[in-house]
Order: sequence, then C-alpha cells, then structure tokens
Amino acid sequence: MKMKSVLIPLEVYGTAGRMLPAVAEIARLGIEEAELLHVETELMHVINVPETADDSDIYESDDQVLKGWKSNIEDCGVSKVEYEVLKGIPWIEILEKAENNPPSLIVMGSHGKTLIPRMLLGSQTENVLHHTDVPLLILRLSVMKKGDPESCTINSDLFRRVLYLTDFSEEAKRCIPFIEWMASAKPDQLVILHVQDTRRLWPATQEQINEFNEKDTRRLAELKEQMNNYGISQIVTELVTGNAIDEILGVADSFKPTIIVMGAKGRTGALKALLGGVAEAVVHRADAHVLVVR
Ligand code: ATP
Ligand code: MN
Repeated sequence: MKMKSVLIPLEVYGTAGRMLPAVAEIARLGIEEAELLHVETELMHVINVPETADDSDIYESDDQVLKGWKSNIEDCGVSKVEYEVLKGIPWIEILEKAENNPPSLIVMGSHGKTLIPRMLLGSQTENVLHHTDVPLLILRLSVMKKGDPESCTINSDLFRRVLYLTDFSEEAKRCIPFIEWMASAKPDQLVILHVQDTRRLWPATQEQINEFNEKDTRRLAELKEQMNNYGISQIVTELVTGNAIDEILGVADSFKPTIIVMGAKGRTGALKALLGGVAEAVVHRADAHVLVVR
C-alpha cells in the first residue's frame, strides 16, 4: 500500500539535514508523490542576508539544498518529487497549500531552526497542528543545545514499535490505513491501547463499567483480528482504566514506542483550532514521533 501524496515543509538551514534519514525512512515505505516546501520569512532576509545580496542569491542556495533533498527522496523510490520555495509566514503558507491541494499526510519536525530545548514544539508545527484537517506526522527531535542542529538527535528507525491509541471514534478509525501502511516496514510490535477514562466513567455504576469493559475488550480483539494479516510480528491489545493522559504516558514510558498513532477531533464550527486534551498532551509530552489523524 502506497501513500498518495506527502507534503514536507522544511527549514532549510535548521534541522532539515538531521531530519533527512527519518524522511527517507518514510519515503522508503512507499509514497507516490512528495512535495518539499520551504518558506522564506521576511525576517530572515533582514537578519541573514548581506545588503549586497539580492533575492535571487538566496533562492538559488535554497534551491540547491532542496534539489539535493529531492534526489535523496527519489533514491528512496518516490517517482514524483517536487519542491517549492515561497515567501511569507511558514505555517500560513503550509496551511494554504494543504487546503488548496490536500495531501494525504504532512510531515514536519518538532523543531526547526530556533531549537529551544525546553520548548516542546516549535511554533510553526504548533500552528499547523492546531489548524489543519490533514493528518500530521511530527518527527521528534531531541534538542540539547539552543539553536544548534548538531546537538539534535532523531530516531530514524520510525516504525520499530508502534503504539496505536484508540477511543473507537471515527478519527481513531481513520488511523487504520496508516497502520497498514507502516506495517510494510515490518514493526517488531504494535500495541493497541484503549483507556477507560475515569473522568468520563463517573458516575457510572460498577455494573455499567463492567459492561463497557466487555464491549471494549471485544472491540480491541476485532481490531487485532483485522490487523493480523498486516504482517506485524506481534500485536498486543491493552485495556486500562484511569486518567487517559496519565495512563497513555505511562504506557509510552514503559513500551517506548518509536511512533504513536492517534486520532484527534478536527476543527469544529466556531471553535477553530481545537485539539483534544489527550492529543495535546501526547504531542507535547511523549518522546516518540507522533502521527495525529483527523
Ligand atoms: P520557532 O520557529 O517557534 O522559534 P523552531 O524553529 O525550533 O521554533 P519551528 O519553526 O516550528 O521550530 O520548526 C518546526 C518544523 O516546522 C520544521 O522542522 C519544519 O518542518 C517546519 N518549518 C519551520 N520553518 C519553516 C520554513 N521556513 N519553511 C518550511 N517549513 C518550516
Ligand atoms: Mn522556526
């Protein structure tokens, strides 16, 4: 199974080089089309460019970097790779592009160029995450030293251990084709986790809780059954009761997934930029790469 189209926004002079092995891993999984996008911000022109240089110089050097990436990704078996350099505010350009011509997936780094270690997510990715309806894969970069891409590490063995979080919602169901796609990387293990959220259970009686548990045990078994022919070595289902965020982060702590796959509510009506609290917490606090599906 191939992913139809993937949009990859890149910070050319930041962590892009660090992200390349992880992006290559995604490309090798099977993508029909990839589009690289770099957005030149006005501020960058002011700070980085000598007064004598004109725009064509900057665009030329960005072009060289992007061209190199393009051929790297083509070498991973993607037949159609394009790249574009736009001017503006990155997250707005990214959203606009994704809206005009929706890709199957957007891939972005957790950090770009500023690289502040205590910041959990860079502002471009944060904004795209809150405003897009397109599935977003956030590549986790660990930052040791502010502004230093050399201090960043990334796990490029993305699909070794997959943690799939489900509340059996429509959004969570839309994760299933992505898991099938990842399965071709031959993960060692897939954990399918559902948390019986005590905040929602209240004021259910013990009898009702037992009923929920039975129903959800059945639903987990059905999911496992469905995924059994994907070719994943081991599939484990887990049903736990507690605070959803705490339990999920607890399982992530012990299982150490390389990637977490989860659904999240899309934008609803007047309440734009809505992201469920669980998705918010996982994206900000887990160590793994995270795929958020709407
Ligand atoms: P901040 O910019 O908030 O100070 P940061 O630079 O560490 O922090 P982001 O800019 O959000 O973090 O970078 C995260 C990801 O966003 C990058 O890995 C890249 O995918 C994308 N990105 C950032 N800047 C650009 C850009 N100018 N053009 C295209 N993509 C970008
Ligand atoms: Mn940035």
